[in-house]
Amino acid sequence: MPHVHHYFDEAHLSYGLDVVVIGGKNSAVEAALQLFRAGARVTIVYRGATWPKSVKYWLRPDLENRIKAGEIQARLGSQVTQITPRDVVVRGALGNEERIPASRVYPLIGFHPDFELFKRMGIAFDPDSGRPKINPETLETSVPGIHVAGSVTAGTKISEIFIENGRFDGEKIFGSAAERLQAQNLYQGIRRETGE
Ligand SMILES: Cc1cc2nc3c(=O)[nH]c(=O)nc-3n(C[C@H](O)[C@H](O)[C@H](O)COP(=O)(O)OP(=O)(O)OC[C@H]3O[C@@H](n4cnc5c(N)ncnc54)[C@H](O)[C@@H]3O)c2cc1C
Repeated sequence: MPHVHHYFDEAHLSYGLDVVVIGGKNSAVEAALQLFRAGARVTIVYRGATWPKSVKYWLRPDLENRIKAGEIQARLGSQVTQITPRDVVVRGALGNEERIPASRVYPLIGFHPDFELFKRMGIAFDPDSGRPKINPETLETSVPGIHVAGSVTAGTKISEIFIENGRFDGEKIFGSAAERLQAQNLYQGIRRETGE
């Protein structure tokens, strides 16, 4: 349905609206907080009984305090059973059913790269982890000339990649600025010598 978004886009589109976020990890928690701060009426629905340990230490107290203050509604231990154009149907921990109004719904319950793209390009990858087979030095895949960078290198374990480590992938693929300059000078030297 057009009001259901598996990627978090823009919080301000939800100003003044009832929004349901499904999930309890960092993506869902961060989205719920941003949506609340952009003026949405947010309910976060999570099947776990408590927020998972992996929730960032600076997000957890923010979320818990917003819930305590009644600014964000939370349904823990709850399963989504249906999404309709107007609401999200949730089965609570005690088996009770509730309809939560929702003009926008964000199921943020996990993500993996597009493995079909790997298949179409003939890139070998481990079927269990989804990791492409790569040369760790150059990040070149099993298809010569095709390199991968960032979270796609980690298959389904995308949380292993952060901006802090993924940003160095460019240098592995293209070399450092100094190496690129050296290669460019070498290339220009060859062009001068050969007159091409
Ligand atoms: C909620 C959340 C919080 C985070 N917080 C932090 C943080 O505080 N610090 C930190 O260091 N990192 C953080 N990260 C991780 C960080 O966002 C990622 O490590 C980083 O964005 C990875 O960059 P990337 O370019 O590899 O992938 P992405 O940023 O995911 O970019 C991949 C792009 O490829 C596009 N794409 C996918 N499939 C196709 C296809 N078939 N064809 C064309 N395009 C396609 C996608 O639309 C997307 O634009 C966070 C991640 C999340 C989800």
